[in-house]
Amino acid sequence: MSEYSVREKPVPNPPPHVVFLGAGASKAAFPYGDRNGRHLPLMNELPSVLGEAWSDLVLKSNAPATDFESQYSWIKSKSEFSEELANIESRLKRYFKEMELPDHPTIYDYLVLGLRKSDVIATFNWDPLLLQAYERNREGCDLPDLRFLHGCVSYSTCKDHDVLGLGGMSCPVCKTKLITGQLLYPEADKDYAQDSFIKRDWAIVQERVKQSFHMTIFGYSAPKTDYNARKILLDAWGDEESRGLCHVELIDTASIAHLSDNWSDFIPYDHMMHETDFFQSSIALWPRRTFEWKRNASFYGIPSEDIGIFKTESLPELQDWFHELSKFENSEGADE
Ligand SMILES: [Zn+2]
Repeated sequence: MSEYSVREKPVPNPPPHVVFLGAGASKAAFPYGDRNGRHLPLMNELPSVLGEAWSDLVLKSNAPATDFESQYSWIKSKSEFSEELANIESRLKRYFKEMELPDHPTIYDYLVLGLRKSDVIATFNWDPLLLQAYERNREGCDLPDLRFLHGCVSYSTCKDHDVLGLGGMSCPVCKTKLITGQLLYPEADKDYAQDSFIKRDWAIVQERVKQSFHMTIFGYSAPKTDYNARKILLDAWGDEESRGLCHVELIDTASIAHLSDNWSDFIPYDHMMHETDFFQSSIALWPRRTFEWKRNASFYGIPSEDIGIFKTESLPELQDWFHELSKFENSEGADE
């Protein structure tokens, strides 16, 4: 059977590929930390970032000896510690805000360049590195929509217009100064409607998930305690019947048994793809063409030629390669 050249025949305006990022994605993208070696913590590693300020507060408040999220929730429920907790929150903000991308290409560069304008990256991470990757790659080709489900230390937007910006920028529509959104801290029972920007991003992500053909979950464990996040996502994703040909793709270092159990509600007819390495994922094998690959396989039974992401240590070379690939997206020969 002949292979289909997805490189040269992209479909115009495809449905979205929605990618969720959790703390494991930032960790995989920056295994040695950011530009200055500042490490990307998982939630349960946050106490080590906070040091004594946190351990003292845990002692003082008599918080239970459990995980960070439960302890945070406990302390938050005691109003007498609100000042100390505000101090903890500003320490966390500062820690993430100072992060910077290294000069060489990172998984976040491959990720933003590897998806199209119709696709969405929805991240649960506070760090600014995804947004920085977007900023430094946006000139060469159209990039996916970014959404911040727990807020982000550097994401700024307009309260009236849905724009993606950084602090200090003005809204291109109404010219008012963009506002940096709030972070959603790790309470067990998160209220996603509490901050208007986070609420807006959730609403858009839900809509996009409903329209999506493929969902990739990268390093996000969807803790069972985050009942609201799971419910919102599952409601949008739909039931097994409506998702018959869809796969859920998990990029995660956890064992397959653990992942199947954690994500069983989302996986139709055991249609799960699992990779431990981003470079084995659909985005790396069919960059900017995941829809064509999926359509060919599921509807026509035709294999697609792997485009295979271009690996290099040079960011300008990577940007040039993606710029060339994206040219076909606007060509007249684009397939129907
Ligand atoms: Zn505006």
